[in-house]
Amino acid sequence: VDFRLARFVTSAPDIHHLPPDEGVEIAFAGRSNAGKSSALNTLTDHNGLAHTSKRPGRTQLINVFSLTEDKRLVDLPGYGFAKVPLEMKIKWQQALAEYLEHRRCLKGLVVLMDVRHPLKDLDHNMIRWGVAAGMPVLVLLTKADKLKQAEKNKTLRHVKAELAELEGEVVVQLFSSLKGTGREPALKVLNEWLHR
Ligand code: GDP
Repeated sequence: VDFRLARFVTSAPDIHHLPPDEGVEIAFAGRSNAGKSSALNTLTDHNGLAHTSKRPGRTQLINVFSLTEDKRLVDLPGYGFAKVPLEMKIKWQQALAEYLEHRRCLKGLVVLMDVRHPLKDLDHNMIRWGVAAGMPVLVLLTKADKLKQAEKNKTLRHVKAELAELEGEVVVQLFSSLKGTGREPALKVLNEWLHR
C-alpha cells in the first residue's frame, strides 16, 4: 500500500466511536510530544495530515486516516501529559487497553518514543499490552537527529535488550521525521502487517 494515499476520515471522541471493526487497522501511540504527528506526516509524505505541536493535554480525539477502502491508520491521543487529571489518565489507559485487546481489525501497534527519553512506564505498558493482545509492535525511537551516532546506537541496543524480555514480535528502529531516517524500513514493516 502506498502510504501517500492516506486521507483524513474522522475524529472520534473515544474508542466506541471508531469506524466499524472491519478491514485492517494499524494504531499509533506515544507520549504527547513524542513526535507521533510528525512521524505520521513523514510516513504518509503528507505535511498537514496529522497536526503537530497541538497543545497537549486538552480534549484529545482519535484521528482516523484511510489508506485504501479497508485499510486505516489510527492516531491515538498522546498520553503522559502531566497536567491531565489522574482520573482522566486512568480512564484513558483503560480505554486503550480495551481497544488493544478487543479491536479485531487491529493488526499492529506503533509506539513512538523520543530517543532521548525512551521506555517510560506508560510506554512499557502500551508495548506490553500490544504484545499481550498478540499483535506485532513497531517501536520508533523518534528525533534520532538529536543524538550523535554512538549515543543513538547505544539507546537502540538498550531498548532492544529491554524489550527482548517480552517475547513478543517487537521491532525497534531509529526514526527522524526531520531527516527521513527510518522511513523506508518502517513502511516495510507496516506494509507487511497490512498484508497478513
Ligand atoms: P506529538 O505530540 O507526538 O504528535 O509530537 P509532534 O509531532 O507534534 O512533535 C513534537 C515536537 O517535536 C515538535 O516541536 C516537532 O517539531 C518536534 N519533532 C518531531 N519529530 C522530530 C524529529 O524527527 N526531529 C526533530 N529534531 N524534532 C522533531
